[in-house]
Amino acid sequence: MNIHEYQAKELLAKFGIAIPKGIAAMSVAEAVEAAKQLPGPLYVVKSQIHAGGRGKGTFKELAPGSKGGVRLAKSLEEVEAHAKDMLGNTLVTIQTGDAGKQVNRLYITDGVDIGKEYYLSMLVDRATGRIAMIASTEGGMSIEDVAHDTPEKIATITIDPAQGFMPHHGRALAFGLKLKGDLAKQAQVLGKQLYDAFVALDCAMIEINPLAECDGKLMVLDTKMSFDSNALYRHPDVMALRDETEEDPAEIEASKYDLAYIKLDGNIGCMVNGAGLAMATMDIIKLNGEFPANFLDVGGGANKEKVTAAFKIILKDPAVKGILVNIFGGIMKCDIIAEGIVAAAKEVNLSVPLVVRLEGTNVAQGKEILETSGLPIVSAADLGDAAKKIVAEVRKAA
Ligand code: GDP
Ligand code: MG
Repeated sequence: MNIHEYQAKELLAKFGIAIPKGIAAMSVAEAVEAAKQLPGPLYVVKSQIHAGGRGKGTFKELAPGSKGGVRLAKSLEEVEAHAKDMLGNTLVTIQTGDAGKQVNRLYITDGVDIGKEYYLSMLVDRATGRIAMIASTEGGMSIEDVAHDTPEKIATITIDPAQGFMPHHGRALAFGLKLKGDLAKQAQVLGKQLYDAFVALDCAMIEINPLAECDGKLMVLDTKMSFDSNALYRHPDVMALRDETEEDPAEIEASKYDLAYIKLDGNIGCMVNGAGLAMATMDIIKLNGEFPANFLDVGGGANKEKVTAAFKIILKDPAVKGILVNIFGGIMKCDIIAEGIVAAAKEVNLSVPLVVRLEGTNVAQGKEILETSGLPIVSAADLGDAAKKIVAEVRKAA
């Protein structure tokens, strides 16, 4: 789960991390009111969306050449003008894709004078099974280019969770950022505070870019934070920060039925039981020259209600031109699944070709139910056959 910048900053502040003063705003009036409460005379008006690259982003509704989603303002009038430009409009950044994201919230912060910008992040490194801290002297808006063009400017420090954050990690961080004297000491303290926040909140990632040196003080000017969903039950306060308007509506709907659904860009909807089988199904669709429209694992205990909900979610995607159902009846029985498919297909008035591959317990009864249903369901012998058939059906219909 992701949260907004202003929420992440409020969490980090609780661990003693220095952030500029700021206030969230949902309207132009609130933005001006927020600015009035800040010292001024420099303010930063920041679009709050779950994506980075806002500074260099562009608004769909504004004239080409207009400023991006993070802007400096030198007066309350400028704050008002920027807020009007941003709220309700669609910000497109390198991280949002072409569709962009609508800006519904702003964060008005005290504008600080930046000496130098640094980069600092922490994430779970699956390869080492440890927390990795990544630091660079080249902070700002193009860390992706730094990683690509000058990887030697990026320092990676791994922390053994059994040992925790040790003073030598702090020194390695300060060295990686090429800091000396008091700034080096601040970096050591910051590294420890960030590690404490990361572990205490069960984060998946914290990214600070830029970490800025402002008048001899290291401050977090921008941060992104994401959490391990499996640990969210331990953090109701974090869960309360969820902004569903930032998430895919189909994925929210799927989670209500305990369906693991991820929307993808292809045209063949998939309904499968088991994550491994679901991935194999997506692979074999690609092998046959088409692309999956989604990942969907209906889980081990799928019943008629779940199957119906899954069909409805798949069909809401206008890109879907056919559906491939691939079920292995291990714990589940194929006849029960077949009944569910038939009932669901009738209920949703299925309008695209449907290929079903069933295997496992009671497979003969299951196939008979599909064949005698009167529905135009194409039955497949195995996974390869199923993929070929759905690709052929989709191309025939095109
Ligand atoms: P991003 O583009 O989504 O990463 O948004 P950021 O919050 O990182 O803002 C983009 C850039 O705006 C930063 O890299 C800074 O250069 C600049 N910026 C952000 N906050 C301030 C501030 O308080 N003062 C000044 N002078 N610049 C800022
Ligand atoms: Mg940034």
